[in-house]
Amino acid sequence: MRAVIIAVGSELLGTRRLDTNSLRLTASLEPYGVELTAKSVIGDDEAELARTLARSVDEVELVLVTGGLGPTADDVTRAAVSRAFDRGVQVDEELVEHMRRLFASFGRDMPGVNRRQAEVIDGAVVLSNSRGTAPGQRLAVGGASVFLFPGVPRELEKMIETHLEPWLQEQSGGGDRGLERQVVKIASLPESTVEERIAPAYERFGRERISVLASPGEVKVWLAARGSEAERRAELEEMSRAIVELAGGAAYTTDQNATLESVVGALLSEAGRTVTTAESCTGGLVAERLTRVPGSSVYFLGGVVSYTNELKTRLLGVSAELIQAHGAVSEPVARAMAAGVRSRYGSDYGIAITGVAGPGGGSEEKPVGTVHVAVAGPGEQDVEHRKVRFPGDRERVRQQTSQLALELVRRDLVRRDLVAD
Ligand code: AMP
Ligand code: MG
Repeated sequence: MRAVIIAVGSELLGTRRLDTNSLRLTASLEPYGVELTAKSVIGDDEAELARTLARSVDEVELVLVTGGLGPTADDVTRAAVSRAFDRGVQVDEELVEHMRRLFASFGRDMPGVNRRQAEVIDGAVVLSNSRGTAPGQRLAVGGASVFLFPGVPRELEKMIETHLEPWLQEQSGGGDRGLERQVVKIASLPESTVEERIAPAYERFGRERISVLASPGEVKVWLAARGSEAERRAELEEMSRAIVELAGGAAYTTDQNATLESVVGALLSEAGRTVTTAESCTGGLVAERLTRVPGSSVYFLGGVVSYTNELKTRLLGVSAELIQAHGAVSEPVARAMAAGVRSRYGSDYGIAITGVAGPGGGSEEKPVGTVHVAVAGPGEQDVEHRKVRFPGDRERVRQQTSQLALELVRRDLVRRDLVAD
């Protein structure tokens, strides 16, 4: 089956509102192996939309339209469908009654204009909308099926689940030819290193089934498999296991919803360990990321943002002489910050960051992007330290730094776990 998506709304042609509905719709097509051939964005223009609709039903078997089902004059989708396929529209009094009750439940009278939302195209099936007033519709035109969905993303989301996915399931006879994807996430390893390490997997599974996506401090390896559900699962399992092995301990999850902070959090919980942070150039970013995870109070005790030398001394016990001798951005100071935050505030791990995020403040000896990350571990003596020079602007330097700090803690926890086994 081939499909097109048509997003309707003049605001989507401007610079302020992005068409995200088509991405959501695309995601729902993939598991069923539906081939998306085109996406269009059309303004609130009845004639233009009618032309696009007429062309689309000749070219593909599935046409998905979102937007333009509201009650106002600029909502032209129903009229455009009527024009394109030469179909009448009838007001469905039952729908009107349903909307009236909906308004009454908010203590309001239904405005007269909302009657337009009860206009049903001849031959269309009404698709209920549990999150709003505009119902969707589905109609057959020649060999094509046309779906009309509301534009409000929250409403569309629910309607995809209740109307589109079950329909796709039915059409595909169980979704046996669908495409399924799985991710392997790798932190703090350059994209080129990941490429080198996973190269054998390209040979073994086929280059077209593996794609590598890099963002600051993180590489995602996406794997794809087709076939029956059981075949897809088995293949993705085998592929992800191979990638994890090739990545050599750098892969932190194969769960799409997991983040580095959630993985670190789970490991800390499991090990019954706690953590504190002492951050300079990241300004609390590591603490912020750790506390994004619900339930983080079990292992995160708190953090210090020590920007000045004075506060590094007063809050973390870093000696003024040490800072004087080596500078705030140095290995000894990073190590002292990590040991200081750990022992002062009584955690198992102490994370410390000091660096030059830029754009100013760099020198020949310590150029912009120079960062020292130190992690004091549960043993009194062990402080792990890394000096790095990250590329990119301030935001990228900070992101990569927080990633490295969390990754160092993760590796320590995994290593200890392995030793304990
Ligand atoms: P409509 O159903 O056209 O009245 O749209 C209602 C709301 O949903 C408006 O605030 C739109 O900006 C938003 N919206 C409509 N279409 C899309 C789209 N394709 N992607 C994201 N938001 C949309
Ligand atoms: Mg609109």
